[in-house]
Amino acid sequence: MKFIEVKNVVFAYDAAEEGEEPKTVLKDISFEIEKGSFVALLGHNGSGKSTLAKMFNGILEPESGDIVVNGLNTKEESTILDVRKSVGLVLQNPDNQLVASIVEEDVAFGPENLGIPPEQIRQRVDSALKSVDMYEFRAHAPHKLSGGQKQRVAIAGIIAMEPECIVLDEPTAMLDPQGRKEVMDTVIKLNREKKITIILITHYMDEAVQADRVIVLDDGRIIRDGAPKKVFSEVEFLKCHSLDVPQATELAYRLSSSGMKIEGTPLNETECISAVIKALS
Ligand code: ADP
Repeated sequence: MKFIEVKNVVFAYDAAEEGEEPKTVLKDISFEIEKGSFVALLGHNGSGKSTLAKMFNGILEPESGDIVVNGLNTKEESTILDVRKSVGLVLQNPDNQLVASIVEEDVAFGPENLGIPPEQIRQRVDSALKSVDMYEFRAHAPHKLSGGQKQRVAIAGIIAMEPECIVLDEPTAMLDPQGRKEVMDTVIKLNREKKITIILITHYMDEAVQADRVIVLDDGRIIRDGAPKKVFSEVEFLKCHSLDVPQATELAYRLSSSGMKIEGTPLNETECISAVIKALS
């Protein structure tokens, strides 16, 4: 079942200077996102990923074309609150997303704004903190947490609003490897166990391979859309568009280029090792 429909979306930002042309950053984009899926959105800087992310919960509106979320057009003012409730947005810097001085108050902020009754808020906050494994930190001060912990609290704040979809715009860019792993484990768990639709914008290809589907944007257009194995098999093509491939895929590609008979497209170390052992035997 489709959850988000992107139909012929065109978007331009106003020109910075008078007399300049407006800058078209999304150029007739169309695709659909299935309910419960985990989609990675890739593309080099400036390709239009964040602009698109802001359309999924109606922060930005298409100039032409439509974004339909759960059957609701984001251009329809009377239902925009329902769109915002069903699609949560997590941004890069957790410090900009945490507003209260105690973790549980921070997580309560979103549902309070939605007008949820207090007794339900308590239950939502506890459950959201448990689902990101931060319940034991509920009485802590957010600014004393690690980057990964802060980002998980920010995600809990979104979960407490009970969205059906979470869009994460480079949520791990400012985190150390441990923090990145914590956030990715949380995102995968929310997708698999709570069936929350995930749209993840990332520059880390080892994160993208964990998605069911990878969409690659380049200069406001979709240039690839498919399963990670299929998209990452085109190593040269991706490099031409200033994109990396996962490290294991790169190693396998180089071994293959130097004559080793590597089968398929290994996406992680285990798959790469198996392919090498097979090639040597
Ligand atoms: P990405 O997330 O892929 O890096 P963005 O969607 O942030 O891409 O940006 C796409 C293009 O739009 C870039 O060229 C960027 O400079 C421009 N842009 C982004 N935000 C604004 C804005 N608020 N005003 C004008 N131009 C913008």
